Amino acid sequence: MLLLIPGPVQTRPETRAALAQDIAPWDNDFRPTYASIRDRVRAIAGGQEGVHATLPLQGCGHFIMEAAIRTFIPAGGKLLIPQNGAYADRAVRLATECGRQVVALPGPDTRPVTGEEIDAALAADPAITHVAVVHHETGSGMVNDPEVIGPVVRARGRRLILDSVSAFGALPVDLSAHPEIDVVLFTSGKCLEGLPGIGFAVARIDSVTAAAGNAGSWSFDLLDVYEHAVRAGWGSFRFTPPVQALAAFGVALDLYAAEGGQPARLARYRENARILYDGVRGLGLTPYLEPRHQGPVIVTVHQPADPRFALQPFVDALKARGVLISNFYNTKVPTFRIGCVGAITPEQMRGAVAAIGGALDDLGVSRREAA
Ligand SMILES: *Cc1c(COP(=O)(O)O)cnc(C)c1O
Repeated sequence: MLLLIPGPVQTRPETRAALAQDIAPWDNDFRPTYASIRDRVRAIAGGQEGVHATLPLQGCGHFIMEAAIRTFIPAGGKLLIPQNGAYADRAVRLATECGRQVVALPGPDTRPVTGEEIDAALAADPAITHVAVVHHETGSGMVNDPEVIGPVVRARGRRLILDSVSAFGALPVDLSAHPEIDVVLFTSGKCLEGLPGIGFAVARIDSVTAAAGNAGSWSFDLLDVYEHAVRAGWGSFRFTPPVQALAAFGVALDLYAAEGGQPARLARYRENARILYDGVRGLGLTPYLEPRHQGPVIVTVHQPADPRFALQPFVDALKARGVLISNFYNTKVPTFRIGCVGAITPEQMRGAVAAIGGALDDLGVSRREAA
C-alpha cells in the first residue's frame, strides 16, 4: 500500500525495523542515540549550540504546539495568528483555550499571508507580543513564508512561533538568520519520515529561560523540559518517552542525511508534487491552488462535479488499487487531498496518478471539473 497522506507518512523499512527492540531510555547505550537526535535536529533548524536547544515532548503536534504557546506567551498575553487555513483555525482554538488573547488575521487558504498584512496588524496593536504562523497549511497545501514574515516581525520588535509541523525537513528554516523566531515546531512522523509519537521544539535558550511561570502546566512547560535536561547533565528526556519511536527517528535522520538532507528532500517532494499536480490536471481534475501557491507537501484537488463522485467510495476504489489517501478534507469547498511526502519516489507518484484515473473510471466519473 502506498500511503499518500501528510502524516504519519510512508516510512522506509530500515526505519520501521528500529521499533523491534526493547530499550531503557536512560541506559548508557541509548544516551548517544538520543543526544545525537537532539544535535541533528537543531542543525537542520539552523540552530547553534549554546543559543538554541532541542526540546522534545511525547505525543502529537498539537501537544508541542500547546507547550510552545503556554511557554513563550504568558497567561493573558496577546498573539497574532494569520488565520488562512484549517491548521491556523486549530492554532486559534488552542491558544484561546490556553487562556491567551488571540488576534486573528483572517485570509483565504489559497494564498500566503503577506508581509504588509502582518505589518498592519502589528502596527494596529502594540499589545501583541507574538505571531504564531503555520508554515505549511496542511488543509490546502499553501506555504506561509517565514522569509517574508520574519523580517516584519523583527522590525516591529515582536517574536515569532513557527508551526512547521508539516514542512520541517523539507522547507528550509534557518534559526540563526532569524533571531525573532523563539521556536520552530515539528514532529517525528512527517517530512523527516520517522514514526509518529514525538513533538520537537527547537527554541532559543534565552527565550526559554525567560519563560518562568508562564506555562500554568507542568506537562506542557518547555522551560521544565529544558531545566530537567540540563540538571541531568546529558539532556535526559522528562517522563517516559516513546523510546522505540525515538530509535526509529534516529534511523530516519541517518537516511535523511544519506539522501542529501533538506535540499534533496525538498527536491524529491517538489518533483512528487509536480507529477501529481500535472497528473490530476491531465485527468481533467482541478487542483485547488494556483501553481504559484502550490507547496511540495500535499496537492488538494476539487471534487469533481459528476454526481457519481463521492469521497469515501473514491478512497475505497483508490485503496483497492494500492493507494491510500485521506477520506476527509479541510477546505470550505469539497476537495480531496493527496500527500507528496514520505518515502515515496517520483516513479511511485506516476503510478498513483494512474491509480487515481483508474479509480475515477471505476466509479464512472466522467464530468471531472470542479463541483
Ligand atoms: C500535522 C500538523 C499538526 C499536528 O497534528 P497532530 O495530529 O497533532 O500531530 C500541526 N500543525 C500542522 C500544520 C500540521 O500539519
